[in-house]
Amino acid sequence: MSSQIPTVTLNNGVVMPVIGFGVFQIPEDQTQQAVEAALEAGYRSIDTAAAYENERAVGRAIAASGIPRDELFITTKLWIQDQGEESALRAFGRSLDRLGLDHLDLYLIHQPFGDYYGSWRAMEKLHRDGRTRAIGVSNFHPDRLADLITHNETVPAVNQIETHVFFQRADDQRLMEEYGIQHESWGPLAQGGQGFFDNPVLVDIARAHGKSVAQIALRWLIQQDIVVIPKSLKPERMAQNLDVFDFALTDDEIARITALDTGRSHVFDHRDPEGVKWLGATRFHT
Ligand code: NDP
Repeated sequence: MSSQIPTVTLNNGVVMPVIGFGVFQIPEDQTQQAVEAALEAGYRSIDTAAAYENERAVGRAIAASGIPRDELFITTKLWIQDQGEESALRAFGRSLDRLGLDHLDLYLIHQPFGDYYGSWRAMEKLHRDGRTRAIGVSNFHPDRLADLITHNETVPAVNQIETHVFFQRADDQRLMEEYGIQHESWGPLAQGGQGFFDNPVLVDIARAHGKSVAQIALRWLIQQDIVVIPKSLKPERMAQNLDVFDFALTDDEIARITALDTGRSHVFDHRDPEGVKWLGATRFHT
C-alpha cells in the first residue's frame, strides 16, 4: 500500500489502513462523486455494504480513479437476507459484480442475526479461494464473537462495531485483543448526535491542539488502536478527518475523553428485540 496513511496488520498478515472512508447513507446518485473526492483527498480504504445500495457507484469511482487495485482496500458486507452458506456465496458474487472487482480486501457479516454460521463457512471458503483477502464480522457482541470462534476454524480478522467517545467498548476490545481481532469503529463521530461537536471536553482539547472536535475524536480512537471509517459528503471535512497524524493526545487528555463513556449505544442497539425484528424484515432484493 503506497499511501502515507498508517496501517494495522490483521491476524492473517493482511495490511489495512487505520482510516478509511465510509459510505453509509450516501445516496447512490451522490456516491460516485463522494468516493472520487475521498480518493482524491488521499483515502485508500472504502467501506460499503450490499445494504447501502451504492456498491455500483463505489465501483464506478474506483474505476474512474485509475488507482492501482493493490493500493486500495475495499470492504463490503453481507446482509441478513443472504445469510446461509449457498446464499452468501451468491451474494458475494453479486457484490463483486456491482463493485466491478475480481476480489475484495475484506468481506464482513453485517449483522449477527439469521444463519451466520452458514455464512461464515461460505466466507471461509471465499477466503481460502483468494476471492477476499480477509473475512470478518460486524455488530458482534462479545458473547456471539466467542461463540462463533469456539465452533469454527477461522477467527474473524475484524469486528466492526459502533464505537465513539460516548460508547467506547473497552470490554469488547479486550476480548478482540485476546483473539487477535482488529477493532474497527463505525459511527466514529456518533453520526454527529448527542451534541457531539459541542461537547465541552472535546471542544477544550480541540482548542489546545488547534484541531477540530472531529479530529480529536478520530485521534482518540486511533490512539486506542481502533480503525476508523468516518463518512462525510464535504471534501474539506474528508481532508480534515484524514489530517490526524501530526499530533498526539496526552495521557491526561485521553483520561478526560475516557471519562465521556456512557457504556451504551447512541445509534443502534443490537440487543433491542424490536431492532432485531426490524433488521430481519429489511430486504434489498426479491
Ligand atoms: P459518522 O460517525 O462517520 O458521522 C457522519 C456524520 O458526521 C455526517 O453527518 C457528516 O456530515 C458528519 N461529519 C463528518 N466529518 C465531519 C467533520 N469533520 N466535522 C463535522 N461533521 C462531520 O457516521 P457513519 O454512520 O457514517 O459511520 C461511518 C461509517 O461506518 C459509515 O459510513 C459506514 O461505512 C460504517 N457504518 C457501519 C455500520 C454497520 O452496521 N457495520 C453502521 C453504521 C455505519 P457531512 O456528510 O455533511 O460532512
